[in-house]
Amino acid sequence: MTNPDYSSIYDKIFKIMGELTPLTVDCGMLCNGACCKGDSQTGMRLFPHEKSCLDITELESGERLAVCNGSCDRTERPLACRIFPFFPTIDEKGKIFVEPDSRASRLCPLLSHSDEIVFNPKFFKALKKVGKILAKDDECREYLYKITEEIDMYKSFLD
Ligand code: SF4
Ligand code: SF4
Repeated sequence: MTNPDYSSIYDKIFKIMGELTPLTVDCGMLCNGACCKGDSQTGMRLFPHEKSCLDITELESGERLAVCNGSCDRTERPLACRIFPFFPTIDEKGKIFVEPDSRASRLCPLLSHSDEIVFNPKFFKALKKVGKILAKDDECREYLYKITEEIDMYKSFLD
């Protein structure tokens, strides 16, 4: 069996997300870019086989972290940055949802003030499509399950 062409998969995904963001305006104005305060030690987890032009650190779990120093070429930013603070979660039947990433609840005003915000529906539609593409690949689907579990766990702490 041939390996999936991850490069094409991510090209397609990035094309679908395009320049879409949760709002139709720059949400960084709400929080002074709180999610882009990289310290060159931490960063964003890459999806399976996702490439990055940022430095990469391998985690004990085998996952890879794109190390962020607080600035990047926006067109090259990791998928996790493009979809923050939401995530395509998956249920036991493999159905995809788009949910707030509870791990970002304390950081991101889009989640803490969600009742007062008008979101961009195109972003959510695109992210759901992306989730469905990822769910077709074994490794990416496992990753969706793993992060869904983390998000649910954080959510239960917050509740
Ligand atoms: S923390 Fe939230 S509101 Fe602030 S820039 Fe990041 S995604 Fe936008
Ligand atoms: S990689 Fe870029 S978009 Fe992602 S957190 Fe760092 S500066 Fe922000």
